[in-house]
Amino acid sequence: MNISETFYSIQGEGGLVGVPSVFIRTSGCNLRCHWCDTPYTSWEPEKKEQSLDELMAYVRRFSRGHVVVTGGEPMIAPDIVPLTQRLRAEKQHITIETAGTVFAPVECDLMSISPKLSNSTPVARDGGRWAESHERLRYQPDVIRQLMGLCDYQLKFVVVMESDLLEIRAIVQELAADVAKVQLMPEGRTAGEVHERSRWLVEIAKDEGYRYTPRLHVDLFGPQRGV
Ligand code: SF4
Repeated sequence: MNISETFYSIQGEGGLVGVPSVFIRTSGCNLRCHWCDTPYTSWEPEKKEQSLDELMAYVRRFSRGHVVVTGGEPMIAPDIVPLTQRLRAEKQHITIETAGTVFAPVECDLMSISPKLSNSTPVARDGGRWAESHERLRYQPDVIRQLMGLCDYQLKFVVVMESDLLEIRAIVQELAADVAKVQLMPEGRTAGEVHERSRWLVEIAKDEGYRYTPRLHVDLFGPQRGV
């Protein structure tokens, strides 16, 4: 598989925040969010070939039971299904972190879906050459519904500005999603940026009945990789 990095850390976002987890980050993405926090998997993808056996050896060495398969977009990785089958055979709790634009019949325990809002479209970046394809692909409600039906799920929205709530409400309604599984996460690559947005985002979460999720890894480690 084309892998960007593997590391052992704690989950920094979502319902399993704080849980020690092995991260397997695939390289490559079909989107180009302008604020992407892992550009080394999307805008300038880096990769190394790692076999499933090598990945399983890493999991066996470090995992305490939780593995997060992330990206990039892990659902476009050709071996994503056999990878999750191998993780299942190892009795791992499997979280898949995806933007929800591509379906694959993976093994999973938590589908962490982060539908991308219009705030992600790269109109100004790289001369705007990715804007049209990103805008066309970024929200695929039929795919998200399929993923929601596969295992437990969470819908995690990256929020840049207060007006993003209009889109989020519309998506939650269209998907008939469980409000308790909707999470609002502040955009930001530094603790300062995250804190600034978290002030008003917490109030919105309280009003809407959505959950606020921190970015614990940003608080603890900043924009550092592999942590
Ligand atoms: S979907 Fe994720 S990895 Fe892909 S460009 Fe957006 S933030 Fe980056």
